[in-house]
Amino acid sequence: MTERRPTTCMRCAVGCGYRQEAADDDRRVVDVSGDPAHPATGGRTCQRGVSETVDPGADRLTRPLIRRGGSLRPTDWDTALGVVATRLIEAIRESPDNVAVLGSGQQTNEAAYALGKVTRGAFGTRYYDANTTLCMASAVMAYHQAFGSDGPPPTYDDVPAADTHVVWGANPAVAHPVLHSWIENSAAAGDGDLIVVDPVETRTAAAADRHIAPEPGTDLALARAVLARVVERGAVDERFVERHTEGYAEAVESLPAAADAAATADVPLERVDEIAGALAADSLIYWGMGVNQSIQGTGTARAIIDLCLATGNMGPGSGPFSLTGQANSMGNRVCASKRTWPGHRPFDDPDARRDVADAWDVPLGRLPDDPGPGFVRIVDELARGNVDVCWTVATNPAAGMPDAGHVERALDEAFLIVQDAFRSDTVAHADVVLPAATWGESEGTTTNMERRVSRVTAAADPPGKARQDLDVIAAIGNRIHPGLFDDPPLDPGAVFDEMRALTAGTTADLSGISYDRLADELAVRWPAPSADAEGGYRYRDGGDWSFETPSGRARFSTAAHAEVPEPVDGEYPLTLTTGRADGVYNTGVRTRDGADGAPTARIHPETIARHLEAFDRGETVIASRRGDVRVAVSANDDVPPGMIWLPIHNGAINELTLSAVDPDSAEPNLKQCAVRIAAPERRGRRDPEPVASE
Ligand code: SF4
Repeated sequence: MTERRPTTCMRCAVGCGYRQEAADDDRRVVDVSGDPAHPATGGRTCQRGVSETVDPGADRLTRPLIRRGGSLRPTDWDTALGVVATRLIEAIRESPDNVAVLGSGQQTNEAAYALGKVTRGAFGTRYYDANTTLCMASAVMAYHQAFGSDGPPPTYDDVPAADTHVVWGANPAVAHPVLHSWIENSAAAGDGDLIVVDPVETRTAAAADRHIAPEPGTDLALARAVLARVVERGAVDERFVERHTEGYAEAVESLPAAADAAATADVPLERVDEIAGALAADSLIYWGMGVNQSIQGTGTARAIIDLCLATGNMGPGSGPFSLTGQANSMGNRVCASKRTWPGHRPFDDPDARRDVADAWDVPLGRLPDDPGPGFVRIVDELARGNVDVCWTVATNPAAGMPDAGHVERALDEAFLIVQDAFRSDTVAHADVVLPAATWGESEGTTTNMERRVSRVTAAADPPGKARQDLDVIAAIGNRIHPGLFDDPPLDPGAVFDEMRALTAGTTADLSGISYDRLADELAVRWPAPSADAEGGYRYRDGGDWSFETPSGRARFSTAAHAEVPEPVDGEYPLTLTTGRADGVYNTGVRTRDGADGAPTARIHPETIARHLEAFDRGETVIASRRGDVRVAVSANDDVPPGMIWLPIHNGAINELTLSAVDPDSAEPNLKQCAVRIAAPERRGRRDPEPVASE
C-alpha cells in the first residue's frame, strides 16, 4: 500500500476532505477516509462519496475512438487529435461561432480555466457554456443582481449558529448528506427550527419540523406572500434596510396581497405566517434546483434574498445560501464562466477584456464581446445547422438536457468531439472520443459551495490510454494557437498560478492561494488576496456592510409570479416534476438503476386510482408533448395527487421535459411540465391474427 494522500471528494459540492490510498501498482484507489484535519468538513464523509471514489463504476473509456463506417473504432492520440484540430481549424476559418464548447462543473479549476482559455482565447467563439447553467445559473444571476457579485454570503461556519433553517426546493438529505447532518443538528439544538418548502415530501421534508408544499411553479408567489406578511406584521429590520439596501419601497409597492399570493401557491395563509414568523430568529435560507430550474428561477432566488434583506437575516448565522450540486460548479464560475472572465471580471468591461487578452497573449479582437446564449440555446444552434463542430468535456447533454430527443438530433447535426472518463449517453453521438482521467487519477484543485479551494490529487494512474483533462485541453489548444500552453503534460500548479494571478484584485480573488499554502492548510476560502488572508462572511468589511453594487447597497427585487410555461390541460392533465433519487448523481452514468433501465415513477395512489386503465402490471407510459417513456410505478403518497415524480438521472426522462428557459439566467424549466399517462403496449404480445371475412 502507498502513503495516504490528501484530496477532496468530487461527488458533490460539499467538498469533504479525504485521505486516499492507492494499490501498490498505482492502478486503482483502494481506500479513502475522511480527513480530520480538513477545515471544511473535519473528517466527515458520506457512504456514496466514499464508495464512488473507491470504485467509480460504469464503463470507462480507455482509448481514443474515431467514427469510421458508422462505428466508433480505436485509434491513437495523434490521429484523434489531428482529426479534431483539422475539423476545428476548418470550422473556425468560416467563423469562430462555427464551434461550440460545452464544459462542466465536474472539471478541476485548472481544466475549467484552460478550457475557457482555449474556447475564448484560441477559438474566439460565443458558443461556450458549462452544464452549471443547467443547475445554478439562476442563483448566480440573483446574486449578481442583488449583491453585484456571485457566491453565497454565508459559509458552513454559519450553519451551527443559525436558529431557523429554511430549505427551499432542495433535498440535501439525499444530495448533500454531510451538510444536511449539520443543518439537522443545528435545527435540533435549543429552539432550532427546520422548515422545508417543496411540493414533494422528500427525505429532507420528512425529517423537518414543518413541511410546506406549494404547487409546482409557484415558489415566487409563495416567497412574495411571505415578504408581504413580514411587512404586514411589522417584522422588517428597518435599520438594516435603511442603511444597507436600495429598492425597498419599490419592492413593497410591487407586492401582491399576501392572501392572494398564498392562494396562488395553494398554501394556507397560516402556513405562510409560520415562515414569516420563523424568520424573526437568526435564519439561513438554503435553496436548490427546485428554485433555480424554472423560467422564474432568478426572480424566485431574488425573492428569497429579499426575505433575508427585509428581516435583517444577513451576517453570522443567517443569510441566503444556494446549495450547489456539482462538485466544482463554484470553481467553474470563478475560472471560466460564460458571463464573466476569470475572477468574475465583467464580460462587458473593456478593461477586463484587455487584461485577459494580454495575460493570454492573444489578439484582443479574438475575444468574444458577448457571453452567448447559454447551454440550451447553443444546442438549438446545433439543431439549426449553424455550428459545424461541438466539443463536450465531462458533460452528458444527451441525458442531462431538457427535450432530449431534440438534443440528440442536434448533436447528430455537428461533428461531435466527446471528452469524458465514462461511456456516457453522449458518446453514442460522437465522431471522436477522447478518454479522460477521473477523480483519484487527476491533479488540481476544486472549489466547494462555500468558496473553499482545496486540492484534488492523483493516487492512481488513469486506465489504458486515458489522459488528464488538462493535458487533452492543452494539446487541442496548442494545435489551434501554438504556444497557448506549455507542452503537455502540464504542471497543474503552474496553470493554477496563472489563473490566480488573473484573479488578483477582483471580487473572487484567489491570488493568495497557492499549492504550497494548500499543502499546509488543505483548504482556503476566497476572497484571499494575500498569503495569510481568507474569506469569511462576504460583504462585511470589519463589520461594515459593503456590497459590490455601484451604491454599495444590496438591491431588492420586484419580479411578479407568472404562470408556468406549460400548464396542465384536458389533454395533458398531470404535472411532471423531477428530483434526486438516493445514491444516484448527475446523469447517473455511474449509478443509474432500474429494471431494463426503466425509471420508477412515484405516483399518489389517488392518481393511480383515477387513471387505473393506464396501468398494466405495475407499469405505465408517461407522455408529454415532446416524447414518451415507459416507467415502473411506485404508489407513493409523498407525491401529491395530480403529480408524477421521476428521477433526474435518466436521459429518458428528459424526452418529456421542456426547454423553456429563464430569460435572465438561461436556466431551463426542468422542474415542471404537463404530461398524461397511457397504458403500455404489452411486451411480446402478438397482434391477433386477422379474421378472414367469409
Ligand atoms: S457529502 Fe458530498 S463531498 Fe462529502 S463525502 Fe458525500 S458526496 Fe462526497
